[in-house]
Amino acid sequence: MKKTGKTMTLPKFDYYAPKSIEEALGLLADMGGNARVMAGGTDLMVKMRNGLISPEAVIGLKNVADLDCISFSKMKGLTIGAGALLRDVAAHKGIRKHFPAIAYAAGETANVQIRNMGTVAGNLCNAAPSADNAPALIALGAQVTVVGPDGERTIALDRFFKGPGLTALEPGEILIAIRVPLPAAHSGAVYCHLSPRSKVDICAVGVAAMVTLDGNTCLNARVSLGAVAPIPMRAKKAEALLIGKALTRTAIEKAGIQAAKESRPISDMRASALYRRRMVEVLTRRAIGGACRQVK
Ligand SMILES: Cc1cc2nc3c(=O)[nH]c(=O)nc-3n(C[C@H](O)[C@H](O)[C@H](O)COP(=O)(O)OP(=O)(O)OC[C@H]3O[C@@H](n4cnc5c(N)ncnc54)[C@H](O)[C@@H]3O)c2cc1C
Repeated sequence: MKKTGKTMTLPKFDYYAPKSIEEALGLLADMGGNARVMAGGTDLMVKMRNGLISPEAVIGLKNVADLDCISFSKMKGLTIGAGALLRDVAAHKGIRKHFPAIAYAAGETANVQIRNMGTVAGNLCNAAPSADNAPALIALGAQVTVVGPDGERTIALDRFFKGPGLTALEPGEILIAIRVPLPAAHSGAVYCHLSPRSKVDICAVGVAAMVTLDGNTCLNARVSLGAVAPIPMRAKKAEALLIGKALTRTAIEKAGIQAAKESRPISDMRASALYRRRMVEVLTRRAIGGACRQVK
């Protein structure tokens, strides 16, 4: 039957609830390309119900021991397990204190019902260009740890996204954790986003900026954009305009203009490409300014 994309009932599938990652990897290997991993299911089940994908089996990660763990130490930085809920990331005291941009992004994702089910890892693996959690994590230098048939590997998050719905995950691999280093002293990071249609709608533009300052001089900067290219992306030329410079109003304005030039937005139901590009400029200024004000 031809897929219309309008099916409203879930197709039949087998559900597996492994208790360990090894068991989950074994199931994935046994079923080849016919199985999908599920965290909260808030993206996966919608796609299945709409007939966009129809895996024969779904491998739920909810029962995998310790996968929802969130840990923070000044030595090791932050680790967000692949099962950690958006709700718990948003509320975590260590994240709110040391990584407020990450807590803010998780807390701004969707609505309370979705945050009670969905995960940050699922948000990244779904690879929507508008994924709210991607820009802040990229700006803060996050890496993801994945395991698969060939063992474990680490991928910098700014290399993880390959296209809309596409990631660097190889067949049979599962993302197990997101790791974020502790920012250098005198750093700040902010995520700003915009949803003109409604607060619950996915964002039309998202910008995160991280700066490390020595007085007013910028030692390091990362600027990351969401919903304005096929993948969440860094605005590397904008970053280069900031590093080594005094972060004056003019310097920040130039970085905003450059970030807008680097963005590759499309027009869709949420916003026109023109509006998005203009808003990249505005939100980049705000994110950099906010990050500077956060520096202690
Ligand atoms: C009403 C509504 C509003 C929404 N609003 C927003 C919003 O404002 N901002 C936003 O960014 N998103 C939004 N979303 C999208 C979604 O809720 C988020 O992307 C959520 O974080 C997905 O997490 P999940 O755990 O439910 O992922 P799932 O649905 O379980 O999985 C998503 C994808 O990732 C894969 N996957 C999941 N975990 C792993 C893993 N550990 N390893 C490998 N692959 C994995 C799955 O196979 C699937 O392809 C919204 C969704 C709905 C239904």
